[in-house]
Amino acid sequence: PVPPVVTPGTSNAAAPADALVLFDGTTLDEWVNSKDASPAGWTVADGAMTVVKSVGNIQTKRSFRSYQLHIEWRIPVGITGKGQGRGNSGVFLASTGKGDAGYEIQVLDSYENETYVNGQAGSIYKQRIPLVNANRKPGEWQAFDIVWTAPTWKADGTLGSPAYVTAFHNGVLIHDHVALDGETVFIGKPSYKPYDRAPIMLQSHGDPSEPISFRNIWLRELK
Ligand code: MG
Repeated sequence: PVPPVVTPGTSNAAAPADALVLFDGTTLDEWVNSKDASPAGWTVADGAMTVVKSVGNIQTKRSFRSYQLHIEWRIPVGITGKGQGRGNSGVFLASTGKGDAGYEIQVLDSYENETYVNGQAGSIYKQRIPLVNANRKPGEWQAFDIVWTAPTWKADGTLGSPAYVTAFHNGVLIHDHVALDGETVFIGKPSYKPYDRAPIMLQSHGDPSEPISFRNIWLRELK
């Protein structure tokens, strides 16, 4: 594969030799439309993919249990809107069903944009607040480095061990092996729903602000 773009002065990380490259800047071959598994349909240009809001969410063709993930994202210069309506997207660490079912780490412009604390960029949406705000300005590339430990289930389908997240935002620790309460929910108490392997999904949020971009996405599966 083509080596990922690495920009000096950012926390970009080149994919290690044993990584599965999910986006190298040139093709969406590893991605499909979440609605119907048709071609992903987001824009690819200049080494990045950009959300196309009319297309909707996209997700990996492959499904995963536990892994290490590197993903970079950029809020466009001149982003408009406020609160949750300013560059909203998200990385669903496991997409477990239709729509926004699963476990979301939030992508948003949280550089100078107030919102509820468990909805800011880097939050495990509505569940876990990042330890610090490590956001960069709109227009600058930012990185998430995430260790996702998938939940496990007992033979009877009840929870064996919860999901854990360790995450760095631009190289700064924002989640230190935190256990989750279940899947992301907008309102109400999270709960777990058994799944085996799940794709990773990128959110096309319905807010009217300008679409954001992703690049340099790679993953290492863990046992
Ligand atoms: Mg979101």
